Amino acid sequence: MVSRTIPVDPFDLVLFGATGDLAARKIIPSLYRRFLAGQMPAEARLIGAARSELSDDEFRKLVRDALNAFVSEGKRDAETIDRFCGQCSYVAVDAKGDGGWDRLKELVRDDVVKAFYFSVAPSLFGSLAEKLRAHGIACDDSRLVVEKPFGVDLETARKLNHDLECAFEEHQIYRIDHFLGKETVQNLMAVRFANVLFEPLWNERYIDHVQITVAEPMGVAGRGSYYDTSGAMRDMVQNHLMQLLCLTAMEPPAHFDPDRLRDEKLKVIRALDPVSAKDVVRGQYKANGENPSYPEDAENADSTTESFVALKVGISNWRWKHTPFYLRTGKRMSRQLSEIAVVFKHTPHSIFDREEGQEPNSLVIRLQPDEGIDLAVTIKEPGPGGMRLTTVPLDMTFADALGPTGSDIPDAYERLIMDVIRGNQTLFMRGDEVEAAWAWTDPIIERWEEKGDKPFQYAQGSTGPDEAMKLMHRDGRSWRSLED
Ligand code: NAP
Repeated sequence: MVSRTIPVDPFDLVLFGATGDLAARKIIPSLYRRFLAGQMPAEARLIGAARSELSDDEFRKLVRDALNAFVSEGKRDAETIDRFCGQCSYVAVDAKGDGGWDRLKELVRDDVVKAFYFSVAPSLFGSLAEKLRAHGIACDDSRLVVEKPFGVDLETARKLNHDLECAFEEHQIYRIDHFLGKETVQNLMAVRFANVLFEPLWNERYIDHVQITVAEPMGVAGRGSYYDTSGAMRDMVQNHLMQLLCLTAMEPPAHFDPDRLRDEKLKVIRALDPVSAKDVVRGQYKANGENPSYPEDAENADSTTESFVALKVGISNWRWKHTPFYLRTGKRMSRQLSEIAVVFKHTPHSIFDREEGQEPNSLVIRLQPDEGIDLAVTIKEPGPGGMRLTTVPLDMTFADALGPTGSDIPDAYERLIMDVIRGNQTLFMRGDEVEAAWAWTDPIIERWEEKGDKPFQYAQGSTGPDEAMKLMHRDGRSWRSLED
């Protein structure tokens, strides 16, 4: 299978926060990989912008360092990096000051796609947007990319939307949720809406429950002070897990176009039931011989912020009324795993004894590691010895199924940046979607804050607190194993 790379129009991408961590780790390497794939035309440019006073050459050195650190060795050579750096320049601007804006205006061309990427603290979004308008740098067809976190509650999200909308219209704003850029997430839509097999079964009649897991082995050391003001609910559930839930639960849009798709996701968020206290479990990891506890990592001995959360979520619509969605996410868990598991019901009547090994079907959409899709089906165990059943996966690991194309899946940021340049908002969150997600999340967090709720402790390298297991067991279900 041959991978198709369609070049995009020439562009000026102005990266605010170009001297920061995210720029070095993700944004610059992703753009370079697209350059390498022949997708970034020779006339396109990356214009770095931040407060530091750097010359173009000093910025190019920073770009080289980022590429050497975060692009695999096989994908970089001096000549290609030189060519890429030749398309990079820098301007020092302070979001809150007046210096640098005239030079930026001179640099940015009017006859190419103009995209502004705010990889800075959200507190700077408003002033950056306002300066870009005031200096006549942004225009009606410019694009604006903003990073998470998009607010910490409904009120702050509304304020951010309002600040941005003073200078940009909704059709110009690209709110990044990098989960949406993952190949498998888009494949979930392809599997659901391009095949006749699943859609008739995709409802409460045939699906027992859905589990969404995003587990990470790392702790929060290094970003503990930020994380402690956020926690798993704000950092992961309100955005990433919510998006996965929406794509799993939404109705088929009439067309695969950004607003119709986002309309359908919004309907799901608005149909979510409020979550009662008994349906949420929060956890904090304990110290072990090697690593500190969560409060130590967060440098806040009295912290009640959760590094783990599990929830049972109901959706009040015809499709999902009696099918719960269980979500869990946490730090310092036994392994890295992100997946959506759609667990079907047992057959209405089994002609085989349960002891013969009949399991319900499940469709597992794996985001990480080994992006792919597994359909677990029950078959007869081969060989003589009677009718013994076993469950086997119909495995579509992209790397195996699609050959070189499947193992060379672009990073989510690569796809998302190119979608911005193409002007395709499908994989970005709309303002009303983000606000609706906060409107659902806020009461859960407020209840913890009002009651001074303390998280349960869990061992590092585990699957979270025992109470999270009980959340499933009391319904006669269990979480899928985190092991290979
Ligand atoms: P960072 O390393 O602290 O970098 C912040 C950047 O903002 C620097 O380039 C800094 O420039 C610039 N900056 C600060 N104040 C400025 C001002 N007044 N005017 C113009 N530029 C200013 O932060 P980061 O980790 O890259 O994160 C950037 C954004 O992405 C944040 O909103 C963060 O929450 C979000 N995010 C980060 C990650 C991640 O993995 N790092 C992941 C997801 C989302 P100078 O250094 O030159 O002052």
